[in-house]
Amino acid sequence: MTDTTLPTDDLDALIIGAGFSGLYQLHCLRDRLGLSAQILEVADDVGGTWYWNRYPGARCDSESHSYCYTFSEELHREWQWSERYPDHAEIRRYLDHVANRLDLKRDIRFGTRVTAAHFDAAANRWRVTTADGMQLTAQFLITAVGCLSTANVPDIPGREHFDGRWFHTGQWPHDGVDFAGRRVGQIGTGSTGIQAAPVIAESAAHLTVFQRTANYSVPARNAPLTAEFQDWVRENRAAIREVTHSTPNAHPFRIENRSVFDVTPEQRQAIYEAAWAKGGLQFRATFRDLLLDKTANDTAAEFLRGKIREIVKDPDTARLLADIDHPYAAKRPPIDTNYFDTFNRDNVTLVDVRADPIEAITPTGIRTRSTEYPLDVIVFATGFDAMTGPLLRMDIRGRDGVSLADAWHAGPRNYLGLQVAGFPNLFTVTGPGSPSVLCNMPVAIEQHVEWITDCIAHLRDRGLDRIEASESATNEWMTKVEAAAAATLLPQARHSWYLGANVPGKPRVFMPYAGGMARYRRICDEVAANGYAGFTLGR
Ligand code: NAP
Repeated sequence: MTDTTLPTDDLDALIIGAGFSGLYQLHCLRDRLGLSAQILEVADDVGGTWYWNRYPGARCDSESHSYCYTFSEELHREWQWSERYPDHAEIRRYLDHVANRLDLKRDIRFGTRVTAAHFDAAANRWRVTTADGMQLTAQFLITAVGCLSTANVPDIPGREHFDGRWFHTGQWPHDGVDFAGRRVGQIGTGSTGIQAAPVIAESAAHLTVFQRTANYSVPARNAPLTAEFQDWVRENRAAIREVTHSTPNAHPFRIENRSVFDVTPEQRQAIYEAAWAKGGLQFRATFRDLLLDKTANDTAAEFLRGKIREIVKDPDTARLLADIDHPYAAKRPPIDTNYFDTFNRDNVTLVDVRADPIEAITPTGIRTRSTEYPLDVIVFATGFDAMTGPLLRMDIRGRDGVSLADAWHAGPRNYLGLQVAGFPNLFTVTGPGSPSVLCNMPVAIEQHVEWITDCIAHLRDRGLDRIEASESATNEWMTKVEAAAAATLLPQARHSWYLGANVPGKPRVFMPYAGGMARYRRICDEVAANGYAGFTLGR
């Protein structure tokens, strides 16, 4: 698989990953700064998370006109999205188009898994090793590995003895899975499970959904885009960008500047109804205090629970689906197409595995404490070892051979989510400690990639060749990350992957920066304007 025509000698920059981040990073470093740069990518094509996540119903929750690059007027004008939310195949087509248009693939080494990256202080070089034994060196190493790319398959006893087939949604077979006539068990009811269940139920003989934590969901109201809207998008790149750059979550709509308590209960109900009818993540933007004040949040939570009870006909099933243990949007809020209605189908059953835990996978199905469920297929919609997982599965070692795993034994620590003290010239695009997963990702990605590019240009212009985050700046930043989360209801979702709580043994640390993308951008700009304050620059 590895492309042997690419040079393996010393490069200016190596980038790991060919998703949204890596592609743009390669373009910036190679075509804007004129550096020698390559991407190493384990998949055999571009796409990043969308290369792997091809499960039934896989579709982006960000609206298509903002789920794309904004750096190029030409790219913007020549690409047209077909639906309000792009599905996985359309996003891959988009990224393929971008890669071809910018002629990026000639500098991507596909089928190449990075296993180790060690910093050689004397040479000021990162020495990178791949699974097929190749060694490459580069001055700068940029991880563009995504936040949700290490599948979390729970270690349930007996899985290896299951006679049927099992799949994790994040590693879905490219030729699909035929559910016709099959009894399917799906574990997990996060954003992925909520997208997958309605589609699986359409073709499976029977679908059993194993729910541990019930979840809110708002209808996506996906639909083809009208020609008028497509024309509007084409002509309004600057206006869309102005909004995505000025809102905390980098979506193309603003959070209403009103409190839940500025309006009467009747007005509030009407606002929630309108947002429910409109669909999508805009529901969270109806009031400014939904994620700040539990009493305010309760009003949205109760509205959404009411909708579940209204849609789901069987009262016991409705009660289980509405028995939600966290504030609305304290976990990443899913949006759906017919999720709750799926439980009105004759061929769908909900199992509450909080009350009746899964004990084992048997050769013929899943056994909970009380019942055996015969199955032909098991779908693990069980999420990811988020944010740190993709970084820590590589053996990354900085100065003095210190491993990233040791540096982060109590949870990730870095400065601005961009650099780790002790790991010079290593940049982590959308790393923990940055807003990343709390945002519409392409906006966060563009900001990081451009900041990194400007930083490298700054070093080169001054004849400098090394940059490293200081310990004191790291300490201050970690305090800010913790304070930003504590000012919200986000840490109240005790089982959330934002906290690492979904992976046994993972340190419980709220990983993303919750202060908002717009504020974060200002902080990063100030750091750069002040000569990269908090970093040590040198030769
Ligand atoms: P997730 O949010 O972590 O949800 C995983 C689900 O699996 C949860 O319901 C979890 O229950 C359950 N689970 C995990 N281990 C289990 C076990 N041993 N037994 C029973 N249940 C178990 O993962 P995800 O749904 O894949 O979503 C991850 C993130 O990916 C999302 O939050 C979102 O950021 C992103 N995503 C985006 C899109 C999109 O844009 N359209 C779509 C999908 C995903 P607990 O809650 O009890 O742990």
